[in-house]
Amino acid sequence: MRPRGPLAGAAVAAVLLTGCGGLSGPAGPSDRPPLPSTRAAVPPVVHQVQTRDRVVFLTYDDGAERDPRFVDLVRERRLPVGMFLTDSVAGPGYGHFARLRSVGASIQNHTLDHTALRGLPYAGQRAEICGQQDKLRARFGIRPRLFRPPHGRYDATTLRAAADCGIGAVVLWRAAMGADGRLSYTEGPPRLRPGDIISLPSGDPTGLTLVERTVRLLREIEGRGLRVGRLEDYL
Ligand SMILES: [Zn+2]
Repeated sequence: MRPRGPLAGAAVAAVLLTGCGGLSGPAGPSDRPPLPSTRAAVPPVVHQVQTRDRVVFLTYDDGAERDPRFVDLVRERRLPVGMFLTDSVAGPGYGHFARLRSVGASIQNHTLDHTALRGLPYAGQRAEICGQQDKLRARFGIRPRLFRPPHGRYDATTLRAAADCGIGAVVLWRAAMGADGRLSYTEGPPRLRPGDIISLPSGDPTGLTLVERTVRLLREIEGRGLRVGRLEDYL
């Protein structure tokens, strides 16, 4: 279900462009596919979405936990969550993520091997990003538009490689939930607000499960009169 479509563009005005200094070379037109001889437009780096809609976005990283109860939760609560998958972590369990996708989750790119990208040469960064695009296309028949660099760290080379791999936006976060179920914020007021992107990294095995953390988060989201939106509708 797509609760909204055309309005989404207006909601994206507040994407934060960071890390772009020093980029060289012309950006290709963003409204048509790049020709082989042109460079794709550098994707925006998005920490939060500016919108008046009372939505927040749930994003899960790596793909280490593969609890069937999480699939049930996503289906029952109709949660359009985003799963940023690393092949070397999630790969053995892609069947689980196919089930998640069938109940409304989206599959996005979080590199092949969770290699720290910042400072790596272009070829290495491109291999990590494009390689995962290829894996996800082979497994799910999709080429994700959204990418999250491991640890949220990137440089100008990352953005150029991501563009060349067909990435439309680099997705970071303002809020992150730890294994203890507590939210921390990278900036701004320490409470959820519309447009927040929330990251749930792989949990500490001794901490709360993904289901427990998500249920706790949903309680907080609903307590603030917010709901879970679909990130692709806004980016
Ligand atoms: Zn990660």
